[in-house]
Amino acid sequence: MSFLQAAKMLTPQIKCNLCDQRQFKVVEEDQQPYNVLKCKNCSLVFVWPHPPHVELETHYDNGYYDEWISRQKARRQGMWRKRLKKVAKFKSSGYLLDVGCGEGAFLGLAQKKGWQVSGTEISAFAARYASEALNTDIFCGDLLSAHFKENYFDVVTMWHVLEHVDDPKKYLSEIQRILKPDGLFVLAVPNVNNLVFQIVYRIIRGRSLKLFTIGEKEIHLYHFSPVTLKRYLAATGFSCLSLAPDYGIIEPAKKIVNWISTIPYYLAGMQIFDAIEVVAVPKR
Ligand SMILES: [Zn+2]
Repeated sequence: MSFLQAAKMLTPQIKCNLCDQRQFKVVEEDQQPYNVLKCKNCSLVFVWPHPPHVELETHYDNGYYDEWISRQKARRQGMWRKRLKKVAKFKSSGYLLDVGCGEGAFLGLAQKKGWQVSGTEISAFAARYASEALNTDIFCGDLLSAHFKENYFDVVTMWHVLEHVDDPKKYLSEIQRILKPDGLFVLAVPNVNNLVFQIVYRIIRGRSLKLFTIGEKEIHLYHFSPVTLKRYLAATGFSCLSLAPDYGIIEPAKKIVNWISTIPYYLAGMQIFDAIEVVAVPKR
């Protein structure tokens, strides 16, 4: 049986995480047993099957964070400061949860500004590092296992985390549950429609950018576009206040490409930038 025949047999068993439909197009199929599929109904792009959890979690040991807490620290602080300023435009005090807080740099800045900070982090190394640096408990594990109180947080942030989780819909619903009715949710994810980056990548590497590679450093299980991300937020009880380019890239060359990719956005509203930043609130 060819792979395509196998995929046709397999896909009816899979349900789209966003729209619950079962019709898919195979986008990438050369990394068996993993395929990248696109929902024919809502255009959500995702990897199927999901690689086992141990494989994902072992990527985030001390080796992963070494650069963050040494060589890249100063550049990263600049990025976190900008992101905190963005939050402060809407809210400036209260309980703030950062989902997937890593080594806690963002929470550290927030804490200095007077926020009561909490974090979740699946990497045991990073959770321990953040707990010590912030002198507060960081939940080591999945947000869904943390069981935070309902209507508790004034702000929840999630910087480049949603693309890594098994079930984005469950995650967003959980954030809706733990956020106060007048709370704020700020998230950033890579943009699957990053056309400028794709073109530059093709010119430099001589091949197209892959959405999935076995064993890569950061495995993205879901690839969101501005449209699918907005649809996710609407489906989980959020109203989207703004959707704009995210400036979370710190490597100088990629940063330049990202800047270039924002020009069509500011000139013509084209959402082909590298990453998306959304500010949302619970629907009233
Ligand atoms: Zn779908």
